[in-house]
Order: sequence, then structure tokens, then C-alpha cells
Amino acid sequence: AETASRELQITLTSRNSNVKNPVPMCGVPWHTAENYIQQLVKKGYKIALCEQVENENNEKGLVKRKVTRIYTAATSTEDSALNPKAHNYLGAVFWDEKSSLGAFCWADVSTGFWTGLQVKKIADLWQWVQKIGPKELLVLETFNLPETLKLLDIQVTTLPYKNYFEKNIAQEKILKAQKVTDVSTLGLEKLPVLIQTCGALLEYIKTTQLQNVEHLTPFTPLNIDKYLIIDEVTESNLEIFKRNNGKKGIGTLFYTLDNTLTPMGGRYLESRLRQPWRDLTTILENQNVVAWFVKNIEPIKKLQRILKNVTDLDRLSTRISLNRALPKDFISLKNTLSLLPEILNIFLDATSKGSVIPNYLSKSIDNWDNFADYTDVLSKALSETLSNSLTEGGIFNVGYNKELDELIDLIVHGEDKLKKLLAKEQTLNNLQKLKLGFNRVFGYYFELSKNIENIPKHFVRRQTLANAERFTTEELKSLEEKLLSATEKRNKLEYTLFQELRKKLSDIRPRILDVSKVISQLDFWQGLANVAITKNWSQPSLDTSTNIFIKEGRHPVVEDIIGKLSFVSNDLTIDEKRRLILITGPNMAGKSTLLRQTALICLMAQIGAFVPAEKATIGISDRIFSRVGASDNIAQGQSTFMVEMMETARILRQMSKNSLVILDEIGRGTSTFDGLSLAWAIVEELLNKKTGGKTLFATHYHELIELQKKYSNIFIMTIAIKQWKEDLVFLHKLIPGAANR
Ligand code: ADP
Repeated sequence: AETASRELQITLTSRNSNVKNPVPMCGVPWHTAENYIQQLVKKGYKIALCEQVENENNEKGLVKRKVTRIYTAATSTEDSALNPKAHNYLGAVFWDEKSSLGAFCWADVSTGFWTGLQVKKIADLWQWVQKIGPKELLVLETFNLPETLKLLDIQVTTLPYKNYFEKNIAQEKILKAQKVTDVSTLGLEKLPVLIQTCGALLEYIKTTQLQNVEHLTPFTPLNIDKYLIIDEVTESNLEIFKRNNGKKGIGTLFYTLDNTLTPMGGRYLESRLRQPWRDLTTILENQNVVAWFVKNIEPIKKLQRILKNVTDLDRLSTRISLNRALPKDFISLKNTLSLLPEILNIFLDATSKGSVIPNYLSKSIDNWDNFADYTDVLSKALSETLSNSLTEGGIFNVGYNKELDELIDLIVHGEDKLKKLLAKEQTLNNLQKLKLGFNRVFGYYFELSKNIENIPKHFVRRQTLANAERFTTEELKSLEEKLLSATEKRNKLEYTLFQELRKKLSDIRPRILDVSKVISQLDFWQGLANVAITKNWSQPSLDTSTNIFIKEGRHPVVEDIIGKLSFVSNDLTIDEKRRLILITGPNMAGKSTLLRQTALICLMAQIGAFVPAEKATIGISDRIFSRVGASDNIAQGQSTFMVEMMETARILRQMSKNSLVILDEIGRGTSTFDGLSLAWAIVEELLNKKTGGKTLFATHYHELIELQKKYSNIFIMTIAIKQWKEDLVFLHKLIPGAANR
């Protein structure tokens, strides 16, 4: 109570303030509890919810209560607690000293999606944790967390080995939760440490949800060979999801690209930007669909109109499975399912008008599921005006269930009978002013104002108010009993019927998730098409070479902010002869912008998007590395120079010929000559190594241009400036040659 009153700014009271040690208390109205719970969860608390689990009418004495749910940062399922277009991950890590292997797995409890991977280096483990950025991270209680992790916005929960990380138990849990008999079905047969980690994750979800977890989708380990790897430092340098100041929204690539209209589509875009594809066929198949939408305005407009009304099927279906869905969720489901035939029609219509639908799109709508078997049932079943209570009836329509119809009939006719009885008493006793009323304590009553004298003999007084008297009669009482028992039966029956319907919908979760997946893709494609249309971007060519050719490229985000007309576009070529482009020029010339726009164009091309360039031919990258010299990391407990050098070393070790390497002012973190020597050595290493990637190297070390005498594959460029009297004019134009001083 003391903690809650402080954190929620509510009054601290006590049961009896006169006694010596009063019991502190504080509270909020039950119907606002959800809001307060979320506030506490956001502040990092875990909340246990205790509820009355017996009907108070049936029992004497204390009513049974129990903990029915535990709220934690990463286990919410309510839309109000979640960002619709972002995943909400719960992560678990484990490092096995003996085998020197580690694993990290993560689940979005709200959608049921989960995956993970096993790694050989402990540093890789933390790299992945930072990249995925779970809200909450589960670790073994004896495990020492690195300092850097403590600075991130991740809530750490420590767990014992026993029952959480134990290998055999973990395996059993996974098999049970996924309803399979062998871990090889899930691709886990050679990943023992990942199994342990997944076991801990499952056990924790079970503990917080207080039920078996069956809503998780089939586990598949993350296959990093399929994706373009963008490590966490690159992700933040390129401001993909967050700006350098840590803020989301405007100024990020996600913000500029996101034209999706459904939560699932938004999350799909998020996943793609975190992990673009690496496989040429997959990229081109997606790009073809985007291109089709760009060319076919009518279908895209129609699709957008429909998608606006599509609800979050993944999270809704999770609530149904966990028995947390409310009647209004069922109405949203019904409304969304009823839109499915319209979506299919868009494409049938386009085909009939002669448009050739790209392969990938037609494949995904080939097995289109209209849910015809459910839309009808749901429409017939659910009343449009239903309340959000599961125990007060009014959920179902007449015609859904025979027994329920009879009860409703009784209740409706009962009301007619009440009206007739009132009319009878009015005329018989000549009491035109006689009224009929109902309240929870006294039930039905007749009411007369106080000054009336000829009260009929058969009226029994029940309640006296300031200016009215309330009565009952034998007849009224017996009618009331019939009515109330019918109402009670109706409420119970409706609850049972609701649970039956819920069970049915829970059983078809895989079907709901399938259709949700297709919708998320459609939304992803139309969103990319829409931004390409509005910004006049072009379709890039992709190949498996190690070259990059960009004509009149722009920075998608900077262009958005400073305006298209003010932005100077630039050409860039990287090929066998120009493996490393060395860019000199003064501060503010536009070096960083050029470096980043190149990385962003490559990244966008690999999610199937159009790009801000007149023309582009992009050789697919396996990784993108982006580093800025002397970035400020003092808070992480390492000197900035140390961080800079460690990260550069990592790049030199991890890169391949297909990697894109963006180095901005590397070597700046130390004295001039040391810095120059380092930059020099790094450039030579990049040029000498067989695994040297496609590199853009921006520097103010003018001396590095000497390297062109020794290497044929370095290309020297600068960003043009003009001297105008005493001032410099920044032209932002990339040209061959070096800055003259
Ligand atoms: P540098 O890295 O050379 O110091 P930046 O890339 O940070 O320079 O750019 C400095 C400023 O110049 C940026 O704030 C940006 O608004 C502007 N700028 C950069 N490139 C361009 C461009 N191609 N067209 C127009 N303005 C640009």
C-alpha cells in the first residue's frame, strides 16, 4: 500500500487509524484498475491480481480468493498496454560454461511468436540481446550481467536453475507446449543450450499467466544465413528505429517508411527492417508485388480502405486462447472476418480486368480462407449492443440457441405481464398514479406518493421514502420470482455458450494466424508501394555481385525533413576497381549523410522496397557495418576510444567481400598522429584483405589520399565546397578528387 500510494499518487489510508499499528491501505475503483496496473508495470513492478473466485450469494463466511494473474513488463496481452506496431519481447539468456555455448530466445507473448539462437561467444549473446531489445530478460540467478546491459531499458528477472533451466525438464516442457514428440520437429536437436533457455522462458510464461501456454506458434530457431545482419550499433547509427537522442518517431527510417494500416502490417515491417532478406529470389518476389501495387492504383486504394478496419488478429486470438477475450473482441473478430471476401475480390477483380498478378501474391491468396463457416455463425450469434460483462447476459442474439430463446421469451413476456398487472391494479383500485419500479435490494415494487390515502388492503409496505411509499403484492412477488430465476438462468447459460464459442475460436487459432500473416504481408507491400508512389522512388535492380551503383541517390529521412528541392542528390559507384571510397571534406559538407544514405538504400532494397534514387543496382550484402568515430559511450563504462577500436576490430574480423562497411571519422578518438596512423592501418587492412567489404570511408585525415599511389582499388572523392569571399558554400555534391586542404 505504501509503495502503490507513492507511485500512483493516491491517498494512503488505513483500516482503523486509532489503533496502535494501523494497517496501511490504498485503493482505486476496480473498473479503473487496468490503467493503474499498467502504470505500475511501466515503472518496473510486477503485479499479482487477486480475485474473488466464488459466488458471494452461494457461500457463507469468507469468499474464496486467489491470485488469478501476474502482470509483468513483457507478458501483457491487452491492446491498451501495447504499442500496436511494435513487438513486445520477453527474452531469456543462458550461458553454459562446460560446453562454452550460449543461447538467447525471445517471445512476444501477445502474439505467440517466438524464436531464438545458439551462439559460441558470450559477446555475441549480448549483441543479440541489445539488437532485439526485450522489455524483460530472464537470466540465471548466479549469472553476472555485463555493465553495458544494466544501462539499457531492460527489466532483468533472475531465476533459479531448478525447474527453469534444467535440460531434461526444459525439453519436456517444450514438447508439451508445442504438442510434438521430438525436438527435431522444431529444429532443436542440435541446440541443447537453446532448449534450456526456451524451457526457462516457457516456465516463466506459465507462472505469470497461471495456465499452460498453448498459444505459442511452432518454434523455429533463427537462421541467420537467411538475413542481412545489422548489428545493434549499426542499427542505432543508421537511426532505423530510434534517433540518436533515443526518441522514436519522426527522423527515423521506420517513421518514413511506415505506411501500413494494420498492427500486424506494422510489426511485419518492423521485423523486416530488423532482419532484411539476403536471398535474391525472396527479395525479388517481394519487390515484384510492391511494383505491382505501384502500377495498380485501383487495387491499392481498395485494399487501403479495407485494411483500415482490420483489427489486430494475432493479439486478439491470443486473448481468446488465454481466456481473456471480452465480448467486444468477438465483435471485432466478426467484423474483420467479414471483410475477408472483399479482400479476395480485389485481386479476382484485377485478374478479370486482365492484370497479371505476380507469382508471390497469387500464391499467398491461392488458399484464401474466407472463414465462411464462422462469419455467419458469429453474425447470428452476437448481439451488436452487447456489454463487456460476461456474467450479465445480453451477449447473444435470439435464434442462436433454443434454450436461451425460451428464457429470453419468458423474460420478455414476463415484462408484458408486469405491465398488465400494473394496469389492472391501476384501474381496479382507481390509482392512475400507481407506478412500477425495480431495485436490486427490494426487487419489483409498486410506488405511490405519500399523500395518497386509499391504499388497497392487499398492498404490503416494503420501503418508505421521503415522499413515496413502496409496496409489493402476492401476485407481484410470484411474478418476480419467475422472472428473476429466468434472468439468472439466462446469464448462466449465456456464460456457458460464450465459453463454448470461445473454445471453438481458440481451436481455430492456426487458421486465424494464417490469415493474419497474409494480411500483414499485403499491408507491408501496399505500405511500401504507397511510400514509393508518394515520394516518387524507383525500383532498384538487385544481383549477387559485390558492386553498388546508385544514380542520384538521396537520404530518405533527411530529404523528408529538409524538403526534396533542397536536397542535393549524389551518384556513387563501388565495384572491383573502387572497393574503398575515401571521402574527404570539411565538417558539414555532407559526408555522414552520404554514407548513411548509401547504407539505407542498400537496406531498403533488401526488404523489397523502392529506393530514393533515380536508378540503383545493388549487389546483395550479407552484413552492414556502420561506425562513427569516437561516439560517446562514457556512460557504458568504456573510454570512447576503446569502444571505437573494439568495434573496428570486430568489423575487420567479421566482414566478408559482400559486407557493406561504412566508417565515419574512424581514429578521431585519440591524438592526431595516433589517429592518423590507425586510420591509415585500417584502410590498408580493408584494401589488403580478401574479405575486404564494399567500403565508404569518410575522414578529415587528408593525408590518407597518399594511399592511392600504393593501391589501385581505392577511389578518392570529396564533397564539393566553394569559397565565396570570407564564407564557405556547401554544395553537398560528391565529386572525384580530394579536398584541397
Ligand atoms: P559531415 O559529415 O560532412 O560533417 P553531414 O552529413 O553531417 O556533414 O551534413 C551536414 C548537414 O548538411 C546536414 O545537417 C544536412 O542537413 C546537410 N546536408 C548533408 N547532405 C546534404 C545533401 N546532399 N543535400 C542537402 N543538404 C545536405
